[in-house]
Amino acid sequence: MVGTATLNIRPTQSINARDVVGVSNDLCCPRVEQFFIGVESEPTVRAVLDDMETDSAASAAIREVLDCFPGRDSSLYLVDMLRKISLDDFSPGNDLSALERYSDRGSRLYELEKYGIVTDVDGWHEDSSGAYLSDGRGLTTFYVPRTVIPVEVLYHFPEYWSGRSCSASHWEITDTLARVPAGWYLLGETGDHRMSTVGVAYLGLSSDVPSDLVCYAAEVEGFMASRCDARCNSCESRWFAESGSWKFEPEYGCAADPWMFDDAEDFDVDDCVKCPYCIVGRVGFLVY
Ligand SMILES: [Zn+2]
Repeated sequence: MVGTATLNIRPTQSINARDVVGVSNDLCCPRVEQFFIGVESEPTVRAVLDDMETDSAASAAIREVLDCFPGRDSSLYLVDMLRKISLDDFSPGNDLSALERYSDRGSRLYELEKYGIVTDVDGWHEDSSGAYLSDGRGLTTFYVPRTVIPVEVLYHFPEYWSGRSCSASHWEITDTLARVPAGWYLLGETGDHRMSTVGVAYLGLSSDVPSDLVCYAAEVEGFMASRCDARCNSCESRWFAESGSWKFEPEYGCAADPWMFDDAEDFDVDDCVKCPYCIVGRVGFLVY
C-alpha cells in the first residue's frame, strides 16, 4: 500500500457542485464523469409536461390509448362520444376505428392520425450530441378534434377455428376506458433513435403552445441544456461551452486559457473537476 497517500489528490473536504456555481436547483447541475457531461433528459421533459399540464385525468386517458395493446382476439375501438352505438356496431367488418395490435408508439400516433382521431401532429427533437443531455428528447403536439371513448371488444370464434380466416360468432364489450377529451396534447419522450414515453400533458381545448412549442418549453426552468458554464471555486475563473461542445472558452474578461473537457482531471463524486488554470481549485458546471 506504499504510495497510496501520495496518489490521493482528491479535495480534502466535500464540495457541492451547486455551491461552486452558486445555484440552489439540482436540475441545472450536470452529472460530470470522464466521458460524459450533461443532465438527465427525463426530468427536463417531465418539467415541461408538469408545467403545461391542465387536466391530469385527460392526460392519463390519452396515455392509456397510446400504451394500450389489445389482446389477440380483442380490438380497441375509439368511438365518437356523440355517436349512439350498440353491440351490433362492433360486428366483424364494421366501419369503426380499431387500433392494431403490436404497433409501437410512433405507429400508434400515426394510426390515430390515419383514423382522424388526432390531427395536426407536429414534433420537435433534439439529439443528445447537440446539447448537454444523457439522451435525445422529443416533444410532439397533436390535436384531438372530437371527444372519444375507447371501447375494448372481445371476439369469440367457433371452436373449429384454427387460424384460418373466419368471422367471429359473437362478441362482447370487455372494457370501456376513460374518455379522451377533445383538445391539444403534448407528448414528451426521450431517446436518440428509439423513443420512450415520459408522459403526456393535456394543454386545453385551445392552446398557444403548439404554434410556438420550443419557445414555450424554453421558458420552463430546467428545460434548456444547450449551454454549459464552468466556474472555479478558488481562482474564480469562468468559462462557457455551447451546443454540446466540450471546448470551454473563457468568459469575457477572464485571463484563463480555453480548455477541452477531454483533458479534464480529477473527477469525483462532487461533479467537479480540477481547475486547469489554478490547479488547486474545483471547477463546477451549470447547464441551461
Ligand atoms: Zn481555478
